Amino acid sequence: MRIFAYEFRIYKMKFKKFTFNLLQENTYVVYDENSSDCAIIDPGNFYPEEGVELVNFIKNHNLVPSKVLFTHCHLDHIFGARFLAEEFPLLQWYGHQEEQYFIDNVQEQGEMFGVRMDVPPSISHYVYDGEKISVADSELQVIHTPGHSRGCVCYYCEKDNILFSGDTLFCSGIGRTDLHGGSMEAIINSIQTKLFVLPEDTMVYCGHSGATTIGYEKHSNPYI
Ligand SMILES: [Zn+2]
Ligand SMILES: [Zn+2]
Repeated sequence: MRIFAYEFRIYKMKFKKFTFNLLQENTYVVYDENSSDCAIIDPGNFYPEEGVELVNFIKNHNLVPSKVLFTHCHLDHIFGARFLAEEFPLLQWYGHQEEQYFIDNVQEQGEMFGVRMDVPPSISHYVYDGEKISVADSELQVIHTPGHSRGCVCYYCEKDNILFSGDTLFCSGIGRTDLHGGSMEAIINSIQTKLFVLPEDTMVYCGHSGATTIGYEKHSNPYI
């Protein structure tokens, strides 16, 4: 009798974190071992060497990025967009429609920071709450979390219990609400009704500084 062995493998989503630019923004490359596909969350690379570091990582892992996923489009999260567009011309640009405002007004944002900005590519795919985006063998679910800006979204991988929270939720902090479209009421509501309903052991990877968990923030975040 011949026994067929079927191999069931569940590929875990992998990611690499980079911390870029003067505002110490976290850029993530999401990928897995089974595929050459990858996505870049919030390309904040600003200095030439940061762009080279990001592109080298992608190329050294034989990855081909298909998407950039914006959690939102404040300057520190889009500094590297133009550079990536030139490096990878087939990239699609995912973000909430409300965030196109920041791309259209990029020079104004640049003046606030005292930097001259190359015009980044426009958002080519508007994401919406509940949308599932495939990256390699994984799925990232869009969670619309207005408050830090109107079009802020988080990306949630249910299979691996990982949340990329952008500037909505930080370790013991929340995003500032004094910029265009910001609202304290909205951000608190987003965190309570959209993020604190996720499993408590969900790892949260933020747009700045270190990681946390939903449970830790639920019980000890001083702002909520
Ligand atoms: Zn921001
Ligand atoms: Zn930021």
